[in-house]
Amino acid sequence: MKNILKGILLICLLISCTKDDNPDQDSNNPANYPYLQQVGYSAKDILSSTTFSNIYIEVMYVDGFKPSDQALNNLRNFINQRTFKSTVTIEKKLISTPTAAAYSINDIRKIEDDNRSKFSSGNQIVIVALFLNGESSNNSGNSVVLGTAYRNTSFVIFEESIHSFSNSPFKPAREVLESAVILHEFCHLLGLVNLGTAMVNNHEDSAHSAHCTTQNCLMYYKVENGNGVIDMISGGQIPQLDSFCIGDLKANGGK
Ligand SMILES: [Zn+2]
Ligand SMILES: [Zn+2]
Repeated sequence: MKNILKGILLICLLISCTKDDNPDQDSNNPANYPYLQQVGYSAKDILSSTTFSNIYIEVMYVDGFKPSDQALNNLRNFINQRTFKSTVTIEKKLISTPTAAAYSINDIRKIEDDNRSKFSSGNQIVIVALFLNGESSNNSGNSVVLGTAYRNTSFVIFEESIHSFSNSPFKPAREVLESAVILHEFCHLLGLVNLGTAMVNNHEDSAHSAHCTTQNCLMYYKVENGNGVIDMISGGQIPQLDSFCIGDLKANGGK
């Protein structure tokens, strides 16, 4: 995770430099608000209403892997609970099915770029939530990545992997697993943990950067891993943020 973030950061810095050198390029861009920045860059803008009073979630999904309405409603409720946005709009958009069996972060960025149609402007910030077939190219052995936040306003959910870890004996209900992973990745965009939102008290897991030390917290590292999350939602409940994480969000403009 740390190496991926560093890679994203480096690439974003390079893009930023290029943009600064060529200010004319911005006139071709539908938005002046940056969307190629590192995860956490927009934390305060998503949490507070200072720059954007409204939020729009563009859910892009491939055929057969549309998220449940229940999970998207849970995301809407979470945004209302933790941010100061006055209007939350969630729209679903079917995109053509990419053919890879496994996707790198670069592949995922390209899928977003080929399909993203809405950009933050005026009083509305736009978040892309991508739901894919196939799996993460970062999977190895027992580690199955269920989701990744990869830009300041973008995250991906490996919905086919979610399918394989839900709705069968001894596995959680799909809506519950989907909700947990969607909320976890969205919270990375909110800057958790220590990823653009400063910590009020130190609670970053030193072995798993950008995650919380509290073992039943939504931001515990196991929530985005197929083999780890099963233990965390065995009771059928979506893990909640602990008081450390909520305290950080409040201190950075959220609630
Ligand atoms: Zn995470
Ligand atoms: Zn926490």
